Amino acid sequence: MNTVTHALLPVVAICLYQRFRKSDFSLNKFQYALITFAGAAPDLFTPHFSIASRYSSWSHTLPALITFTVILLTTASFKFKTLTTKVAVFMVVAYSLHLACDALSGGIPWLLPYSDAILGDYYISPSLWIPFDVILVFTTYILARTVKDSSSATTSV
Ligand SMILES: [Zn+2]
Repeated sequence: MNTVTHALLPVVAICLYQRFRKSDFSLNKFQYALITFAGAAPDLFTPHFSIASRYSSWSHTLPALITFTVILLTTASFKFKTLTTKVAVFMVVAYSLHLACDALSGGIPWLLPYSDAILGDYYISPSLWIPFDVILVFTTYILARTVKDSSSATTSV
């Protein structure tokens, strides 16, 4: 999966959650941007173009996820207006979702630097990645427009 997929997938998940749970929270565009960044973060921290370079990527590991989580939750504890605890949790979930998707599409070196073990395999064929990206972009567009319209009168997180 590519970086666009990883960035948009958490936004789609949040929009679906808001729609089907009829949740009363809404996020502003800066909060969506933070969550989108977190979804793409493992690829942005260590860009790679081959599966071999992903297998040596420190950002696709459990220690990186734990470090990212501690930094985010600590920062959110200062009660910033945009980076609330709920947004920080969404960002951690977005980062985790990236790692899970990569585990299903080639694997991740989840225990680096302690072990070279690879978690996952090619359960999702690379030939499906581009069609999946196209579907995801259209789904995100449709959901973002409809959620924005329905949540304009709700309170923010
Ligand atoms: Zn990745």
